Amino acid sequence: MSRTSIQSVKRLVVKVGTSSLILPNGKINLRAIDQMAFTLTTLNNQGYEVILVSSGAIGAGLHQLGLDKRPTTISRQQAVAAIGQSELIKIYNQRFQYYNQTSAQVLLTRDVVDYPESRKNVINTIQELLEMKVIPIINENDSVAVDELDHLTKFGDNDQLSAIVAHLSDADLLIMLSDIDGFYSANPNTDKNATLYHRITDITDSLEAAAGGEGSRFGTGGMSSKLKAAKRIFARDSQMILANGEEPSIIFDILEGQTIGTLFASSTYTEGD
Ligand code: ADP
Repeated sequence: MSRTSIQSVKRLVVKVGTSSLILPNGKINLRAIDQMAFTLTTLNNQGYEVILVSSGAIGAGLHQLGLDKRPTTISRQQAVAAIGQSELIKIYNQRFQYYNQTSAQVLLTRDVVDYPESRKNVINTIQELLEMKVIPIINENDSVAVDELDHLTKFGDNDQLSAIVAHLSDADLLIMLSDIDGFYSANPNTDKNATLYHRITDITDSLEAAAGGEGSRFGTGGMSSKLKAAKRIFARDSQMILANGEEPSIIFDILEGQTIGTLFASSTYTEGD
């Protein structure tokens, strides 16, 4: 695909992480979900084509069940995800309906997008939904996805899923919302001297080192998975912005072209192209 300046983006994928959807005390962040529905509906009304990739199934399931940590067995985690996914979608649907916007749930596993026939169906479904001005809410089908030796059905994490969805839908931009303002020279929660990168043109070894290991309590991705997703974006010469999802209305400012978060775009691209 050829890259588009931020101001002329038409189709965008927004990925929201668990840390933006679940409060530190484990309750659902209704304010964030409501603001997301308002923001995405407004963009849809303005003519953008919007796809949401949302995590949060296990977090919502833990909340439903009154648990404060993930169960240890995979089967119980998958059961919690099944409970949480329907709860999360219920809340999304309610908030989107409040703004008169139809939304749809699409649950994917890696084998579905790896196999050409079913991959084509996924692409067609997303395309049809966008043509109907419906907002797809996509997640991994956590209740059935497993990684076994000869049977890989997991995307790894929703950062990868969102980059894959951006590819499948040929989106102009992936906006990844997290609990941090962007990509820093080191983890700002542990290093006070960490500085925010406004623009990353290439994934270097020193960036990989700055990404460190784990992320937040509920999130599973962390910064290294964001870099891995960014590599997928670079591979198709597209662009990604990592920004703070505390206020999802930040997407309006991003699309206006304000310097927000970290833009991942190769150096051949100059802003305002
Ligand atoms: P999400 O659930 O939104 O996907 P994660 O919890 O997986 O988010 O990742 C965000 C966290 O990654 C931040 O809160 C921060 O603690 C951690 N982190 C580690 N290294 C960095 C870095 N270099 N820049 C920014 N955040 C970092």
